[in-house]
Amino acid sequence: MTAKIIDGKAIAEALREKVKEQVNERISAGLLVPGLATVIIGDNPASRVYVRMKHKACQEAGIKSIGHELPADTSQEDVVALVRNLNEDPNIHGILVQLPLPAGLDEESVLNSISLKKDVDGFHPINIGRLAQKGREPLFIPATPSGVMYLLEEAGAQLDGANAVVLGRSNIVGMPVSLLLVSANSTVTICHSHTRDIPAITREADVLIAAVGIPEYVKGDWIKPGGIVIDVGVNRVEDDSMKRGYRLVGDVAYDQALEVAGAITPVPGGVGPMTIAMLLRNTLRAARLADGNDQ
Ligand code: NAP
Repeated sequence: MTAKIIDGKAIAEALREKVKEQVNERISAGLLVPGLATVIIGDNPASRVYVRMKHKACQEAGIKSIGHELPADTSQEDVVALVRNLNEDPNIHGILVQLPLPAGLDEESVLNSISLKKDVDGFHPINIGRLAQKGREPLFIPATPSGVMYLLEEAGAQLDGANAVVLGRSNIVGMPVSLLLVSANSTVTICHSHTRDIPAITREADVLIAAVGIPEYVKGDWIKPGGIVIDVGVNRVEDDSMKRGYRLVGDVAYDQALEVAGAITPVPGGVGPMTIAMLLRNTLRAARLADGNDQ
């Protein structure tokens, strides 16, 4: 079997185009341009790259984005004061505090200070709490997990009653993806670093989500024939043949998986592009919420 490749890049581009059209429609109707404020604290190089990519994507979609950069030794009070100002700013609809925060800052209380209606990253404890409760709807779902669900839908995955296995239980990927799969009526097994005999579990997976951060961790013979594999991992491995000295690989041994899976996302070009597209969609939603429109 050769797996169908789930083209996250193309799917994300189509979604970004849709967001752009809807932003234009808003502006033509005389509504405010959606505004995203990013807050980056310290000089983590990866965070800077991610935030730059988010600003560029906003610009392309017609969303206004304003960056705030604070030094690593900024006090908790000053970070919270900035967030509170942004909460009050009617031209800012979404607030994104780039994680991880430098040591000494309390992530939970910083996230807690973001207005629920502007929590476009979906990490506010109330939004995450609602995700975990039956019959409750979060205002925003974190971008990477909702990107995973969007790709599953585009791939035509039958989630109702499916055996879904999630490798990883982080706050930003594994746990929210697991909750979303439960909401979609899958039977979910969450594996982590204490789980015994992971291959025996993954071999039963109609849907397998890999988010462990270990290069090519999932081997071909761990995959159920015909199963759908979403590879969230983005890992650098040394490669002297590349100009930059490394290449990016996922958490799944892609070439092996291609022979077994029914469908799979590549790395790069799978989940990564969806994360930014979902952030744009969440920012547009935040602008609609500010208009009193809940759609
Ligand atoms: P993380 O916070 O480091 O969490 C990793 C998870 O994997 C933890 O739950 C950990 O278990 C589990 N784990 C570690 N070693 C394991 C093992 N040997 N067997 C089974 N489980 C194991 O990572 P993350 O932030 O969720 O990110 C995961 C991957 O996704 C990374 O490669 C990251 O770069 C990528 N990522 C991609 C995007 C994107 O947009 N494409 C976004 C976010 C993350 P414990 O809980 O027991 O420690």
